[in-house]
Amino acid sequence: MKWVSSWIEVHAPVRSGTINKRRWIFGTLADMYECYKKDAVSAHFPIRSKSFVINLSYKLKIKVPKYDRYVCPKCFSSPHQSPPQIDSEHSILVNSQYSWYIHLLNNLQPNQCVIVQDYTTIHEELNKKTRILNFAVTTAETRENSVYKVTRYYDFIGHLKQSSQYTQSVWNYFLTKYHFSQFKGGIYIWSDTAFRKKSDLSYFRTLAKTEKIPITCNFFAPYHGHSSCDQHFGHVKQKLRRQNLNSRVTSLEQIRESSESVKNTTTFLFSNFNEHLIEAQPKPRFSERVKRFHEWNFTTEGKVLCKERSGEGEYKENNIF
Ligand SMILES: [Zn+2]
Repeated sequence: MKWVSSWIEVHAPVRSGTINKRRWIFGTLADMYECYKKDAVSAHFPIRSKSFVINLSYKLKIKVPKYDRYVCPKCFSSPHQSPPQIDSEHSILVNSQYSWYIHLLNNLQPNQCVIVQDYTTIHEELNKKTRILNFAVTTAETRENSVYKVTRYYDFIGHLKQSSQYTQSVWNYFLTKYHFSQFKGGIYIWSDTAFRKKSDLSYFRTLAKTEKIPITCNFFAPYHGHSSCDQHFGHVKQKLRRQNLNSRVTSLEQIRESSESVKNTTTFLFSNFNEHLIEAQPKPRFSERVKRFHEWNFTTEGKVLCKERSGEGEYKENNIF
């Protein structure tokens, strides 16, 4: 343990000008652990588990690297692994959200759809950051008496920041392009908790009422929201790099080309839908009555029914609006 502590202190030095603020020299915790394992082997010390090293680094007040989105600081596992501590509240939430997501996909009916929504930032474009909001829409289609599940990707590309204003404007536009009336059996929306804002929830409540379609918003456990959208973004970024090997990315058009060349993808530029732009909204306040719930069910009559964990226990009526 003493060797591990001193290894950590060497690899997370005190930053100049700050007292007691240590930073990893690695971009991700996965890189850190790879380096640790090599060093432990060559120094003939036993290899401790990743969670042991990370836990110890927390005790030494070292934070998660700034760019590491791929390791959950609560359970030290990556989004696609199940968490190692089975009894903690966080692990129970991770498991219940993920298994309900899989349950919905496996039992999807032809009059229902599952939509995962997420943002990504493209840093390649010269001088500007581009954001893509992606909807990964999975439907069940009947062909020759068999039911097939198909996922189609819709990319909305623009220069705006991730916000309720952007999300809702895109939804307003998407409603004019996509035949949602075929999903009277329900729309199941999944996203990370960054989308769990009162204004967005209120938007979907109104939508369920006006479109006469039940809508359910589910939220993945914190740090475990990486899903089909992330895979899709990986493909878009890979294409972007390949298509612009010898030149800089200078326009949205180039990003649109990369996005469109990914299989099953439809792309929209923000300039096409800015007439659907809604007014900017005040910063959301997160109340306990929002944060506690991971499943929000909006009925066609305007009722709001919540569950703390998706698919578990009884619905509670939420009168937050
Ligand atoms: Zn976790």
